[in-house]
Amino acid sequence: MKYRKIGNTGIKISELSFGAEWMGELPDKEVNKLVKYCEEKGINALDCWMSDPDIRGKLGNAIEGNRENWIIQGHIGSTWQNNQYVRTREIDKVKPAFEDLLKKFKTDYMDFGMIHYVDEIKEYHEIMNGEFIEYIRQLKEDNTIHHIGLSTHNPDVALLAAEEPEIELILFSINPAYDIMPATEDIEDYSNKEKYTSDLSSIAPERAELYQKCENNNTAITVMKCFAGGRLFNDADSPFGVAFTPIQCIEYALTRPAVKSVFVGVKNIKELDDSLAYYEASEDERDYTEILKNAPNHSFKGQCTYCGHCAPCPVNINVAMVNKYYDLARIHEQIPESIREHYNNLSAHASDCIECGQCIKNCPFDVNVIDYMHKAEELFNQ
Ligand code: SF4
Ligand code: SF4
Repeated sequence: MKYRKIGNTGIKISELSFGAEWMGELPDKEVNKLVKYCEEKGINALDCWMSDPDIRGKLGNAIEGNRENWIIQGHIGSTWQNNQYVRTREIDKVKPAFEDLLKKFKTDYMDFGMIHYVDEIKEYHEIMNGEFIEYIRQLKEDNTIHHIGLSTHNPDVALLAAEEPEIELILFSINPAYDIMPATEDIEDYSNKEKYTSDLSSIAPERAELYQKCENNNTAITVMKCFAGGRLFNDADSPFGVAFTPIQCIEYALTRPAVKSVFVGVKNIKELDDSLAYYEASEDERDYTEILKNAPNHSFKGQCTYCGHCAPCPVNINVAMVNKYYDLARIHEQIPESIREHYNNLSAHASDCIECGQCIKNCPFDVNVIDYMHKAEELFNQ
């Protein structure tokens, strides 16, 4: 197992973490076995968005005696009402649900108190200006939560959270399919094939901007839904018309900027082993670029994914970064100062390109880098 640092928290999280939502289906004995297996394999983080007291209890029992070795993302706003999960901001429901989470885990703290599932911008602003965030701030002051996180599937909400210094971690849904989808407040869009219109290819600029912003601001991203709920595992369901392996999905998520850990949802040891096989996999087995380049639908061919495979450049241009800043800048009417500054701080610029063409030979997506360099030079020299 490998570990990555989360911002300034001093926490080191395992690259693969335990997405525990299926534990409700398993008997206690199986949950215990899976949790012990995670511990043996060096997995040190779990996410509990689930409000079902039964699941919480099973997980709490399974980690008993070893709680301080686990990093827990505990969700605030996920409640259990009339035997059902209800997401709410009603503080009189939120408080007892969070207290129940602590009780079921037999602990007096959560490492990350997660503002649970915010996909609407309006709701984000209401949360950040109302009693919900006040409650969370109080929990932090009391050391009941050590850090504040937020979970969302919407890059526009995540971009706002990434600007907020008190939010240190974002649990965000990342996989190659979601990454081509423009920002949406409706989670159903991701599983609706009709929403993957033929004009979509390469990473949506707001998502690239999010990953970059998180990296710049030291906001950690942890990943959910890296397999798109399993849809990427077969040709028929994959929006690309071709399947990915779990290893390729994990590699894709772990190579996005600012990503610290991928929470893999598993039902048994075999499924966990399928993900842990990532560490035994060869570079070829991890490589997802051929799929994205040659996919029958939404091919990334000709689109820069900022993967960096085109290096080295004889005049030291960081092609991936120049292309990224160009893509981020061109979607704005006026180049944002932060993007201009990042571009200016690069050690070599588009104008330094001697058009040797080496990067084009190396690029798995056949990107016309020289053309990119001309356009970037023109844009940034305005
Ligand atoms: S130009 Fe090609 S190789 Fe270079 S970062 Fe972009 S996609 Fe990757
Ligand atoms: S074409 Fe330009 S950017 Fe590409 S390797 Fe040569 S000098 Fe570098």
